[in-house]
Amino acid sequence: MEKNPRILVIYTGGTIGMVEDSVSGVLNPFDFEHLTDQIPEIKKFNYLIDSISFDPVIDSSNMQPEIWTKIAGLIESRYESYDGFVILHGSDTMAYTASALSFMLDNLSKPVILTGSQLPIGMIRTDGKENFITAIEIAAARKNGHAVVPEVCIYFEYQLYRGNRTHKFNAEHFEAFRSVNYPVLAHAGVHIKYNETAIQKPVGKEFRVFANLDTNIAILKIFPGINQGVVSSILSIEGLKAVVLESYGSGNAPTCEWFMEEVRNAVKRGITVCNISQCRGGAVIQNQYETGRWLEEAGVIGGNDMTTEAAVTKLMYLMGNGYSGKKLGEYFQKPLRGEVSQM
Ligand code: ASP
Repeated sequence: MEKNPRILVIYTGGTIGMVEDSVSGVLNPFDFEHLTDQIPEIKKFNYLIDSISFDPVIDSSNMQPEIWTKIAGLIESRYESYDGFVILHGSDTMAYTASALSFMLDNLSKPVILTGSQLPIGMIRTDGKENFITAIEIAAARKNGHAVVPEVCIYFEYQLYRGNRTHKFNAEHFEAFRSVNYPVLAHAGVHIKYNETAIQKPVGKEFRVFANLDTNIAILKIFPGINQGVVSSILSIEGLKAVVLESYGSGNAPTCEWFMEEVRNAVKRGITVCNISQCRGGAVIQNQYETGRWLEEAGVIGGNDMTTEAAVTKLMYLMGNGYSGKKLGEYFQKPLRGEVSQM
């Protein structure tokens, strides 16, 4: 008989962890020791649930790569002791954290489910309870002795997403995330229905953690009226190694001489320029229009249907592992964790 699932909850902070003071009405981070008091339903699971809490807990707007390294380290040191991991995290940067962890946790065969909420868990109409309870159930789900979802995911408002395909798109609705270019991995209704064909299979190799991240990158978001001073200051940042160029539509950018020269020169200086669309759906196809073709000719790397969140963290991960120049561009285009469709 299989043992009861063992789940580790890592509580980093965010709205989910606030409780309303019954007297003053002020929101305070809740004491994690009393988690089960806030959600007594959890006791009904026949799982062994342990928790680790950040001290202090953080608003995820303060998320930093060093904290991703810390989370990855916590998972690494306890990987053998648990069947699944749930990370409670603020929603603001959750898509970045999920993307970063997807690259840092190599050969993952266990679920790592990030969740949070739009309303604190102590509030009557909170979305946090359902998010948390179902995230635990998904982290514990096994079939034929294997985890059902051996991926880094975000669970929010009845949907399970591949983490590195998501972005936060709504600050008000309970449905705060979207994965426009990849199907949802599961829907939670009366039953949790897994979309098995969309879920990655474990590769069967030894689990490894890559903790080195190189943050010498910038995002250059273009807009009509952007001036040369802005573009040139970004591209001449000391130590800059890679740029995510947020282009229009299917990967198009202005064809005025100064802009093309700035980009061409940056590539010549060895900066890896990656093209990600400002559109959340669809893909960069650099040879579709003249306004995209010149980028291809200049040596800009097309990012296909990757999100900005995935592109930024993938570059940090690849550069942290010593990739640069041509190899960096090649690996950037390759699907490593299901973050980009095969070209
Ligand atoms: N500012 C909060 C955070 O990201 C919002 C949330 O938790 O949803 O930590």
